Amino acid sequence: LAGGDRELLLNGIRDVPDHPKPGVVFKDITPLLADPRAFSVLTDALAAAVTRHGATAVAGLEARGFILAAPAALRAGVGFVPVRKAGKLPGETVGESYELEYGTAEVELHADATGPGDRVLVIDDVLATGGTAEASVRLIRRTGAEVVGVTVLLELGFLGGRERLLETLDGTPLESL
Ligand code: AMP
Repeated sequence: LAGGDRELLLNGIRDVPDHPKPGVVFKDITPLLADPRAFSVLTDALAAAVTRHGATAVAGLEARGFILAAPAALRAGVGFVPVRKAGKLPGETVGESYELEYGTAEVELHADATGPGDRVLVIDDVLATGGTAEASVRLIRRTGAEVVGVTVLLELGFLGGRERLLETLDGTPLESL
């Protein structure tokens, strides 16, 4: 994104120091979501990514990824698939764990949500360490689907998420708006 659109989105992202714990600067996108003009610009940009990558489905990462991915999927005319934290999805699931600073976390996908022939774009709000996105990519691939890209609103460059994810992506594009 460039110019006025970039400014509009940046103005909708608020830094909240020391949330959820001391030392973390939380990127709060709720002002952006509350502004229909900014939300629409963001949705257009994400929908354009869906079309550009020839995606046939969009995977949103819980929880803020859902809010961004669902309208983008709808606008691009493809389906929406939720990647959730472990234990939330009601049907048969596949799961992937990943390392956190302390301990591990797990993401899940309905086993029949994606499969061979599907081209999936992964969408989330913030790329931090890249662990969540990386596990989600591995998860979707395990169902036989192709991941055609990862698109986020913003990335925190100093956390090295891009480097971590690029290894797994192996040529699949990663873009932050
Ligand atoms: P990570 O797995 O470290 O890339 O973390 C990514 C997930 O945590 C995303 O779903 C983000 O929504 C959230 N997240 C991590 N760090 C931040 C932050 N500083 N501000 C807002 N969200 C964050």
